[in-house]
Amino acid sequence: MTYDTIVIGGGPAGMIAAGRAAELGARVLLLEKNAKLGKKLLITGGGRCNITNAELDVRKMVAKYGPKGKALFGSFSRFGVTETLEFFHAHGLPTKVEAEKRAFPQSNKAEDVWKTLVQYLKDGKVAIQYNSPVSGIQTNDGKVTGIRVGNKILTAKNYIIATGGKSRPETGSTGEGFAWMRNIGHKVEEQEAVLVPVTTQEKWQKDLSGLSFTSAKLTILQDGKKLESKTDKLLFTHFGLSGPLVLNMSKNIRELFTYAPVTLELDLFPELDAVTLDKKVLGVLTQAFNKKIRNNLGDLVPPKMISTLLSLVKIDPEKTCNTVTKAERAELVKHLKSLRLTVTGFLGTDKAITTSGGVSLKEIDFKTMRSKLYKNLYLAGDILDFDRPSGGFSLQICWTTGYLAGDNTPLKQTLTQLEVNI
Ligand SMILES: Cc1cc2nc3c(=O)[nH]c(=O)nc-3n(C[C@H](O)[C@H](O)[C@H](O)COP(=O)(O)OP(=O)(O)OC[C@H]3O[C@@H](n4cnc5c(N)ncnc54)[C@H](O)[C@@H]3O)c2cc1C
Repeated sequence: MTYDTIVIGGGPAGMIAAGRAAELGARVLLLEKNAKLGKKLLITGGGRCNITNAELDVRKMVAKYGPKGKALFGSFSRFGVTETLEFFHAHGLPTKVEAEKRAFPQSNKAEDVWKTLVQYLKDGKVAIQYNSPVSGIQTNDGKVTGIRVGNKILTAKNYIIATGGKSRPETGSTGEGFAWMRNIGHKVEEQEAVLVPVTTQEKWQKDLSGLSFTSAKLTILQDGKKLESKTDKLLFTHFGLSGPLVLNMSKNIRELFTYAPVTLELDLFPELDAVTLDKKVLGVLTQAFNKKIRNNLGDLVPPKMISTLLSLVKIDPEKTCNTVTKAERAELVKHLKSLRLTVTGFLGTDKAITTSGGVSLKEIDFKTMRSKLYKNLYLAGDILDFDRPSGGFSLQICWTTGYLAGDNTPLKQTLTQLEVNI
């Protein structure tokens, strides 16, 4: 069997790329080193898959990716958020939009996104070869001439590389694609963990492991100066902090941490100023009156947090609510609005949500996702050097770049034939 297009890597970018090329009539082979496609896709969004960010304004969407996002302007205009949502709806996957425009499948199941893509591959009769780790790429005279799988060389007219980044290697993303690209002369920016959970020193935080706050404010402090604040969802873990709030600030925290110690200040009531919060605390205490404080702060903080909070503010948990002094109440308010944690480090690349770095964007034609160095080579997904926040922005890169790569390989094939015919 000769193939028009070989896609390497069966993650979200490779799956949509293979499906799209097949939909346009190409004979497609998808090579995946695991026994299953899309292992990482299945764990996205805590198993719910934050499929995209429903920012429908292309300019605003591009801006979310920082300076490197400019490259995406043309790509998003061709297949952006609107087209992605339309694609999934047309393929039987309804979606819903939550806070911060995060879009999820209505079923809350990443598996349903996975199934939609698997069906897309089936519909296009994409040949899938599992347990097939590609070990290298051959090139000659500005073209890819074959790829190595075991002791075989497989050939096609066009090749799409979608081998992902380096985070969570147990899912298959081990970064081999970066080495191949470097070997054939592409510039590959060093990978660094971004969107990475932060580890902290305080022992009490371990007791809060598993607690999440839908809208907390985090401020980064260095040398006593407040440097940056953001409000979003926060998660306490056994090692420190995670959740979109921390992940999105992790790059800046990491940069600062290389110079000097960093403290994080958490405001669990960002929407209330200290005076209003004090009134709220007073209300809670007054209502419980002569009951023990340890059982009666549930209207303020999750029950799991009460004993930690009381121990931090040094209030005897056996005290009754009506005996809490004004000074103690002020301490409570202070802690609820400025809980401090000391950064000790970051989880490694392997635990990051994404890695920055990858194939230099300057060497890619973003209308087609074609390499500017090799006529029949296309790249899609995490292998590209984009920065992106959490909130569906990583997968959107996969849908856009994967779809466009798939869209253009059959076109390229026609062009090649035309060139030959002329
Ligand atoms: C825990 C977690 C949660 C996340 N949640 C979200 C979220 O909710 N929303 C969001 O937008 N992003 C999320 N992301 C990021 C998102 O998962 C990635 O951006 C996305 O999976 C990248 O897709 P990809 O197809 O480029 O690469 P990958 O998903 O990494 O897939 C690459 C594929 O290539 C295969 N492969 C690699 N090397 C070879 C080889 N040599 N031969 C053959 N096959 C090979 C791998 O086995 C793998 O199947 C999350 C990431 C993590 C780790």
